[in-house]
Amino acid sequence: MAVRNILLYPHPTLRAKCKAVEVFDEELHKLLDDMAETMYTANGVGLAAPQIGVDLQVTVIDAGEERGKELIELINPKVVEVEGAPIVGEEGCLSFPDIYAPVERKPTVKVEAQDRNGEAFTVEGDGLLGVALQHEIDHLNGKLFIDYISRFRHNQIRKQMKKRYGKGDLFWTPKPGSN
Ligand code: ZN
Repeated sequence: MAVRNILLYPHPTLRAKCKAVEVFDEELHKLLDDMAETMYTANGVGLAAPQIGVDLQVTVIDAGEERGKELIELINPKVVEVEGAPIVGEEGCLSFPDIYAPVERKPTVKVEAQDRNGEAFTVEGDGLLGVALQHEIDHLNGKLFIDYISRFRHNQIRKQMKKRYGKGDLFWTPKPGSN
């Protein structure tokens, strides 16, 4: 397993419309293992493949209270149902380090996906898991959490990111204990 670099906004791959996975082979398993290790090292709740520069419909999530116990791997996930009265929560993203903004979403979601061997499964979530499922699946469609917020805050974040990272490469390398 290896920790991968995480792309920073506004890297263009973060806007890619990701391709469906058709082959469930060792290469996919290695990608999933690397994504989990990268997510845990970066102390994130979720990570989507485009965030490490891979334009495939793959994401990993662990919204559990204890780290490392509730890993969910989702291949070709689709949101089939969202419900509940919309609630506003502070959201962050590993492609926007240390930036948070209020995003309104319906809290309960049902997702259909495939596992690493291509078997179909359904996952339902609310609370943090419900938000993470929607946030990560958005990534696979090139959609980011800043797309939901006010134009003013969106521009503020764009400027913040440019000031912080505009002169360097648009990625960062998670290191154990650095978050
Ligand atoms: Zn994100």
